[in-house]
Amino acid sequence: MANEENLYPSILKMVKSFTKDLSKYIKEGAKNVTAMEYAVRLDTCNACEFLKKASMRCGKCGCLLEHKAKWSTADCPENKWPAQKGIPKKEVLDRETRNKLADERDAKRRAENAKK
Ligand code: SF4
Repeated sequence: MANEENLYPSILKMVKSFTKDLSKYIKEGAKNVTAMEYAVRLDTCNACEFLKKASMRCGKCGCLLEHKAKWSTADCPENKWPAQKGIPKKEVLDRETRNKLADERDAKRRAENAKK
């Protein structure tokens, strides 16, 4: 039986993917997403079949998600969350958007807990 380490992309693919994402992030000003968007991205990854939970790495690109999910220019290789273009450094979400995102996250967690 294969262990989790054998299910990652090759080292070469991981290095290429990380280098490409990092250079794009730096080239476009090293902007990070908001704390709310970061939490939404990680929630999406936590519910993803490709996540390698023990190391919090993506099984598709091999990236460390705690870093990659912060980068505004990064996106999910399976299109489960997009890159954000042109966001200001200190984006502030309005209350309605914050509440909507929090409600969606809570509903998702309740649905996951109901399955257990
Ligand atoms: S980056 Fe995308 S494919 Fe990778 S674990 Fe997260 S949601 Fe899944």
